[in-house]
Amino acid sequence: MRLNWALPRAALLAVALLLTLATSFELALDARSRLSGPEPLGGRPATVGASPGDSAVAQTVMPRQGAVAPAVDAIHPGSVNATSMNLTAEYAATINLNFGTRAFKVNELIVVTNTSGKAIDRLELNTVAARLGGMRVTRASVDDVAVSPTVTDQTIHLPLGGVLDPGAQARVRVTYLSTLRSTTSGSNWLFTRANGILEAHRWLPWISRPTPFDRPNHGDPFVTGVSPRVRITIASDRVIRWATTGEQVSGSGLVKTFEAINVRDFALAGAPDYAVRSATVGSVVIRVWSRTGFAAATVLSAAKTALSKEAALLGPYPYKTYDLAQTAGGYGMESPGLTWIPTGAGNLGYLVAHETGHQWFYGIVGDDQARQPFDDEAATDFVARYVLGLRRASRCSTARLDLTIYQYSSACYYEDIYIQGGNLLDDTRRAMGSTAFWAAIRDYLATYRFRIATTQALLKTLDDHTPLDLGATRFRTRFPSYY
Ligand SMILES: [Zn+2]
Repeated sequence: MRLNWALPRAALLAVALLLTLATSFELALDARSRLSGPEPLGGRPATVGASPGDSAVAQTVMPRQGAVAPAVDAIHPGSVNATSMNLTAEYAATINLNFGTRAFKVNELIVVTNTSGKAIDRLELNTVAARLGGMRVTRASVDDVAVSPTVTDQTIHLPLGGVLDPGAQARVRVTYLSTLRSTTSGSNWLFTRANGILEAHRWLPWISRPTPFDRPNHGDPFVTGVSPRVRITIASDRVIRWATTGEQVSGSGLVKTFEAINVRDFALAGAPDYAVRSATVGSVVIRVWSRTGFAAATVLSAAKTALSKEAALLGPYPYKTYDLAQTAGGYGMESPGLTWIPTGAGNLGYLVAHETGHQWFYGIVGDDQARQPFDDEAATDFVARYVLGLRRASRCSTARLDLTIYQYSSACYYEDIYIQGGNLLDDTRRAMGSTAFWAAIRDYLATYRFRIATTQALLKTLDDHTPLDLGATRFRTRFPSYY
């Protein structure tokens, strides 16, 4: 047990300082978002404490610039009973966390522009904190007017307090309190502090659609669109080394700020005693974050191999850095620019190749991971096994590949979607020839870049790149609902 209840005096002073600063983070969020985002609602840039060299603490104590008065009343009275995922949203958030007590408080600002082409009057925000963290939303507002969200399953249903027309923009704030889990069992590993490591996946309320969290297997019950910019400040009770989706842009010690561009999530893993080792592939810096006893050299070597071989087939990796972090347990897990490798995982070469493949299938091209797992898991596992020469037969009987994660058993989900799905893609490659096959895959990645695609789109793109009728000869029986 690493918990130390008898905090030394210095730590107590640090916590006291942190609590004092915590309230001003909320104010700083205002100023930061005005600095970094496209100008929301006619706000003007702050003029103090904001140069890149300033420390995060200096920014947090800057005086408030006065309440931001919206230039227009974006939200107008009425209701249309509608929402959309086709919105453009920039996210900024501060996490105040206590590594010791597992308290995890989030103060979020979403600057959302209605790019859906139709009027909406609510958002549906996904976060696992609702299912794993005992989340309690303590405050929510839209353009500084309080609203009353409700929470079902892993979705925050947030009324906008009126109608947001196409093209209009609103500032949505959500604050929640939660507590990280303390084990890695079940789904706890997605939001826990265990074995000396804190890890949080899908913690940031993100525009999504209601998607059941419970499933009979390890499928990912998520669907998220790409945000052009995410800015996260983490304030912690002790110095922690963080591996995140983003890049650290400011701060040090207890308060650090990270930023990510064109990502569909912002995951993090951290430990006070993470060591980092790095290498480069082309212009991409690969970093492995781990505690002692972890096979960091093996993971780094596997990541270099996977990134270079997969990029050669699929096109350039989209970010400047690629982080891989040792996690407390559970499963390997993908997020943009960051892969989780659980403590004790075997077959690291394969696991790293699979999770790295998700940078293209899930990361660059998104999908509904819950309702169409073939789209990212079959494609990812096919690529991983292709570059490593690891194809094998399935250990489950021939199955449909068009079902949701909720319809596959724990015993056969992996064998059906990953193995049989990957084998179907490999058989397709042999039938149409590698040149045409990889051209089709790159076409699919380019067409749906930073969007959400479908399994049907992947299959159709393959079919469009060959004179063979793949639909009639190969896909119809495996995807009966699509044909
Ligand atoms: Zn996967």
